[in-house]
Amino acid sequence: MAKRDYYEVLGVGKSAGAQEIKSAYRKIAVRDHPDKNPGNKEAEERFKEAAEAYAVLSDGDKRARYDRFGHQGVAGAGGGGFGGFDPTIFADFSDILGDFFGFGGGMGGRRGGNGMTRGADLRYDLTLSFEEAAFGTETTLRIPRLETCGKCDGSGSADGKPPIACSACGGRGQVRFTQGFFTVARTCPQCQGEGRVVSDPCSECRGEGRVEREKSIVVKIPGGVDTGARLRLTGEGEHGRRGGPPGDLYVVLQVRPHKHFRRDGSTVLSRLSISYPQAVLGTGVEVDTLHGKAPLEIPPGTSHGRDFRLRGQGIDRLDGGGRGDHVVTVQVEVPNPRDLGDEERQLLRRLAEIAGHPVRDEKEGVFDRVKKNLFG
Ligand SMILES: [Zn+2]
Ligand SMILES: [Zn+2]
Repeated sequence: MAKRDYYEVLGVGKSAGAQEIKSAYRKIAVRDHPDKNPGNKEAEERFKEAAEAYAVLSDGDKRARYDRFGHQGVAGAGGGGFGGFDPTIFADFSDILGDFFGFGGGMGGRRGGNGMTRGADLRYDLTLSFEEAAFGTETTLRIPRLETCGKCDGSGSADGKPPIACSACGGRGQVRFTQGFFTVARTCPQCQGEGRVVSDPCSECRGEGRVEREKSIVVKIPGGVDTGARLRLTGEGEHGRRGGPPGDLYVVLQVRPHKHFRRDGSTVLSRLSISYPQAVLGTGVEVDTLHGKAPLEIPPGTSHGRDFRLRGQGIDRLDGGGRGDHVVTVQVEVPNPRDLGDEERQLLRRLAEIAGHPVRDEKEGVFDRVKKNLFG
């Protein structure tokens, strides 16, 4: 089945701003949410479709790829792109609709007063070598994060009894006091606003329901990523509190520079130094590419700064659209006169003489030359 255009799904124009996209998605999500339409398959499909469209169009990078390459550019597993990084729709959903359905952190994170909150999102900065970014790699991250306490199963209670209403606030989570004409409400200090307290806290997590653990996560980095790329591992952030949904883990990539290569997207750039005679008469050389040595013909009359393109010798495109090129820029080297032998020097002088190009006299001092230039 052909996929519908994401802009069409949300009913917005191609130039829609972030706010417009957000409110268009919100409207559909509120209308078609499965909780509101039990058993309605069509509503559920529309809801999922909108969530997927929103996940792409609300992300600057993904939107740019989608605009350029269509669905191909943002394809999930199997599509060549970010395989393994499932842009699961429900995480985005909880971000945007937290206040509607009781997900999300903060005030919106409470549901039925049982202290349920979504786990925090985590960020991990990962530095890759130039080659790792070009070819892709697999690495194991060690992420310290809050996980559901195994001893009390997240309840925070040692005896398994459910929490009881807080006596200080009567379960409201807020205490009120009168100050002059005003009644001021403040978060209850005894239950931290939850409205409930665990009477016999778990010894492992001290009633929090979560403990800090180091989790090893294997991450597959696709070839072609560059500095600034952000991979989201859905549900790999901190665990939620009291059974709340987990947060996400964002892996933010930084690519180390290479000794000889630079890159521009999927194109690898390098320089090649040749001598003046080689530039004039032409030569054949071998240049280093990411994929090994490659022969390069330098034709006679090659000027300084000329680019030579080695097709398909660059970096795989993230969207699966093949491999980029390697561009070699020629630099015609001017030798240091101190490095020249007598014969070379004599030949250069002879060459200048034949070509009628005046050059500096070897015996002439700096002062003589200046005088000559000024007074002829
Ligand atoms: Zn515990
Ligand atoms: Zn309280």
